[in-house]
Amino acid sequence: MSQQRLNRVIQALHTHRLDGLALMPDANLTYLSGLTFHKGKRLSLALVPADGSPPCFVIPALEHGRAEATARIPMRYFPWHDAEGPAGALAAAASAAFGPAARGCTLALEYASLRVMELRALEAVIPDLRTRDATPILAALRMVKDAEELATIERAVQIVETALERTIAQIRPGMTERQVSRLCSEAILAAGAEGESFENIVASGPNAANPHHSNTDRALQPGDLVILDCGARYGGYISDITRTIAIGEPGAEARRIYDLVLQANAAGRAAARPGASGAEIDAAARQVIEQGGYGAFFIHRTGHGIGLETHEPPDIVAGSDEPLPAGVTFTVEPGIYLPGVTGARIEDDVVISADGARSLTTFGRELRIIEG
Ligand code: ZN
Ligand code: ZN
Repeated sequence: MSQQRLNRVIQALHTHRLDGLALMPDANLTYLSGLTFHKGKRLSLALVPADGSPPCFVIPALEHGRAEATARIPMRYFPWHDAEGPAGALAAAASAAFGPAARGCTLALEYASLRVMELRALEAVIPDLRTRDATPILAALRMVKDAEELATIERAVQIVETALERTIAQIRPGMTERQVSRLCSEAILAAGAEGESFENIVASGPNAANPHHSNTDRALQPGDLVILDCGARYGGYISDITRTIAIGEPGAEARRIYDLVLQANAAGRAAARPGASGAEIDAAARQVIEQGGYGAFFIHRTGHGIGLETHEPPDIVAGSDEPLPAGVTFTVEPGIYLPGVTGARIEDDVVISADGARSLTTFGRELRIIEG
């Protein structure tokens, strides 16, 4: 599987007339090789030559054994020890990957994650280095998921849905957002996750009006809507789900915005099919909320791609006009946020299928009311 990915990367390097690619320990390296590393302070760089020969991996010696045992593609290793530093290993790797005349070659680098440390190290061994941004090139490859990736994301979804069910079953009026958050984190790990996709959000009452709320010690009270947004990481891939619940019977306006968000979520999912663009899916969801009179209070994009990262292409938003093919995974998460009052969001993870779209999340979407 990863050999196919490497072949596609090499094909893309040719298309973009690049001599090669240098990858940090990050999602792109995981995608290509199956390797997961902390982005530490020790230099780690995989140099991928466009000629199709095995990538050259400059790696701290203490990580070498694990990398060789777990990499899913053949690689040439250039380990370095703390006492000697990485310069020699990098010079040897660069000349193995790009030839002794590496001078002036053009490499794709991850502009969003590469640090000055890596750039200066590369410049020192490749005189007159020219660079291009690797991020969009790899994002285009990663956007369409293969069967193995989809199965892994579905497992991450099952884990978070099990955890969310357990969490909601334990919620009682009077608990604080932080207490609920802790229950949620524990439930996600207990259900089999490697970790949370991101710090979960428990936004209650007026705090639900902030889409990126940071959890507080506010206690859940009768009449509150509570937004629960959480995700599980499994096999390197993530899930991302939001449900909004009520503490006791919600007021008329809270009920009204919940129902609109529910309809908007359904409209967004229904608009997802092969050839639909992110802009079309966004418009389908947004139109429901606009027609309901709350258009000004839906203050973010309808969704974002998911995969190895919680936010990756495509954006489900106006201006995202590229037609989406089968296999693309993303969220549909409309919301309404009334400042100082309340808010609601319902988020599902979907995949474009051959003839429409399938929701990977299947957690019930009807408003659940927690009685005291
Ligand atoms: Zn979310
Ligand atoms: Zn999301």
